[in-house]
Amino acid sequence: MTAPPRRIVVVGASAAGLTAAESLRADGFDGDVVVIGAEPHLGYDRPPLSKQLLSGAWEADRLELLPRHRYDELGIACHLGVAATALDPAGRTVRAGGADVAYDRLLIATGVRPRTWPGTDGLRGVHVLRTIDDTLAFKEAAHAAGRVVVIGAGFLGAEAAATLRGLGIPVTLVGPAPAPMVRQVGPDVARLLGELHAEHDVDLRLGVTVRGIDHDDGRVTGVRLAGGTSLSTTCVLVAIGTAPATGWLDGSGLDLADGVGCDAMCQAGPGVFAAGDVARWFHRTHGTRLRIEHRTNATEQAMAAARAMLGAGQPYEPVPYFWSDQYDTKIQAYGQTAGADRFAVLSGSLEERRFVAVYGRGERVVGVLGWRSPRELLRARALVAGAVPWQDALAA
Ligand SMILES: Cc1cc2nc3c(=O)[nH]c(=O)nc-3n(C[C@H](O)[C@H](O)[C@H](O)COP(=O)(O)OP(=O)(O)OC[C@H]3O[C@@H](n4cnc5c(N)ncnc54)[C@H](O)[C@@H]3O)c2cc1C
Repeated sequence: MTAPPRRIVVVGASAAGLTAAESLRADGFDGDVVVIGAEPHLGYDRPPLSKQLLSGAWEADRLELLPRHRYDELGIACHLGVAATALDPAGRTVRAGGADVAYDRLLIATGVRPRTWPGTDGLRGVHVLRTIDDTLAFKEAAHAAGRVVVIGAGFLGAEAAATLRGLGIPVTLVGPAPAPMVRQVGPDVARLLGELHAEHDVDLRLGVTVRGIDHDDGRVTGVRLAGGTSLSTTCVLVAIGTAPATGWLDGSGLDLADGVGCDAMCQAGPGVFAAGDVARWFHRTHGTRLRIEHRTNATEQAMAAARAMLGAGQPYEPVPYFWSDQYDTKIQAYGQTAGADRFAVLSGSLEERRFVAVYGRGERVVGVLGWRSPRELLRARALVAGAVPWQDALAA
């Protein structure tokens, strides 16, 4: 039998890492909890970055996940501005800030980092949006620029474009797919999103590839599209996806193919667990490994991993959930809306811009999505949780 842990180290001081630390205490763990975080800020919530922080509705301190005094009350030793650089699973130590930090259990909660545009390191006017510092820098540059070009019409690019339009800033949204967020929500809902952005005067350049970012004297001057068009700008947001933050685990022997590979209990190796955006775990009911980059999963998986670290875990089998706010529209979804091969509207209609839609794969429901319909969507969640046959869902 494994001895109960006395010292648990969490790497990553954000949504997943801090939830796990809190949960360990809530679950009665009274040993040492040490959190190591690369950013200098107290852990904060990321969804408001592209919404309330970018728009100026909120100040940065409103994003804090735990007030400062809670760390002391909970007995969490938090080392901020310190990146873990290596893991020695045999010796059960993490290398951080020039020291070896010993653990009985380790939680990896290092999230993801944004992909950057090749060859633009250090180029002024090219931005990403992952941290408070990124957002404040981008916000200032966006206000100063005559026009912002957003490269990437996925989740983040679409949200940022909507917020910028709310500020009256001209925006061009460029991406290779035919409509915003098409990979995440499928063609019908993506088409509607495209209409919404067009109505708010976003200059949509979709189905178009970016050839390069032009610059002069270390500052961006424009974005070159396939076909020869050049979009003049001094401010570019690169929103082309992310990569799991696992570089520090190279050589550890962990499975690092697209995140940290884990079993159904979020365990990656002896004494090592992972949660949040970085974790690719085996979802038993889906029968496959999933990695989810959404806020609710970070909380739920961290709680599950905390319990598993204490030896009281259950297989982690959530119904995934995400939301996105664009203009006055809240889109929410349960399950998997990406990669579905069937789509139908269950209530409301696309025309009235208020509806709940169901997504299927083969003969089963795999996802539901609500467009300005939170209450109706909550009722439809059961269709996903029960993996209801497609025909029954339509009949219901
Ligand atoms: C702009 C933006 C808007 C979003 N909006 C939504 C939304 O509307 N709805 C939704 O569902 N989700 C949204 N998300 C996604 C959501 O915020 C993430 O799913 C969530 O933050 C994941 O939490 P996490 O703790 O796993 O990872 P993260 O929040 O990425 O935190 C990981 C932390 O680990 C740190 N770290 C990395 N490497 C190391 C290291 N070697 N040593 C120490 N620390 C390290 C990082 O600096 C970071 O602080 C949004 C994300 C962004 C960026």
